[in-house]
Amino acid sequence: MEILVIGCGVSGLSCGIRLLEAGFSAQIWARDLPPRTTSNVAAAVWYPYKAYPEHLVVGWSAASYADFVQLAQLPETGVVQHAGIEIFPWIVEDPWWRAAVPGFRHATADELPDGYRDGYVFEAPVIEMPVYLGYLIQRFESLGGQIVVRRLASVDEAFAHYDRVIDCAGLGARELVGDSTLTPIRGQVVRVAQGGSSASGWTTMGRVASPTSSRVRTTVSWAAPPTRAVKT
Ligand SMILES: Cc1cc2nc3c(=O)[nH]c(=O)nc-3n(C[C@H](O)[C@H](O)[C@H](O)COP(=O)(O)OP(=O)(O)OC[C@H]3O[C@@H](n4cnc5c(N)ncnc54)[C@H](O)[C@@H]3O)c2cc1C
Repeated sequence: MEILVIGCGVSGLSCGIRLLEAGFSAQIWARDLPPRTTSNVAAAVWYPYKAYPEHLVVGWSAASYADFVQLAQLPETGVVQHAGIEIFPWIVEDPWWRAAVPGFRHATADELPDGYRDGYVFEAPVIEMPVYLGYLIQRFESLGGQIVVRRLASVDEAFAHYDRVIDCAGLGARELVGDSTLTPIRGQVVRVAQGGSSASGWTTMGRVASPTSSRVRTTVSWAAPPTRAVKT
């Protein structure tokens, strides 16, 4: 069976690879290829965030986590396992995704910086996306997949050629299937040096004291490229 995947970001490439591995014939059509995708600029830390329904997401997250642990064995994937601590100024419950992460635990008092009362200690996959996307393209093509640069005006255009279509167009789904609820938001990626915790080699993922005082603001933005790099 021939299946068309729309989109060549991390979703389209991952779907395409899984389809080929399962014995289907798959082709990708995409308006833009890496490095001109949103996937290229993701910070790409494994962390289930505002994804629902949680009882299903926890299983998907666990499966992804296990796959990324395997991929981290291969330097060419750009995937690494990072030990980290997420710190809180108050006592927190276990996160709903705890079951997905082997070795998850709460921080001990001596692991917490001044002013913080609790923390999650765990290893998470961190992915260097330009490297990972290159790896996925190579894997997709070596399995016999073809990537075609083609902008679709609607999914009907895809169904005119294929009976089975998987839409991995990201924000492009807004126009492809008329989903006006999709809204782009601008994010900020902060790169920090390893360290920051009393335990050597850890990355500290701090939260601001109150969710309402977050200094990383998000606004609606259709701008594709990063607008500014700041080094302090
Ligand atoms: C600053 C930032 C930080 C992020 N950090 C993280 C993080 O730490 N962890 C995490 O999990 N996620 C993170 N994300 C989110 C993550 O980047 C996205 O969820 C993910 O990249 C979406 O991948 P995708 O393949 O679905 O879409 P995209 O990468 O957007 O790819 C969409 C593809 O569809 C194609 N397309 C669109 N419209 C059409 C059309 N009409 N015809 C043909 N092709 C079309 C595009 O050209 C492209 O090839 C971050 C995002 C940003 C912006």
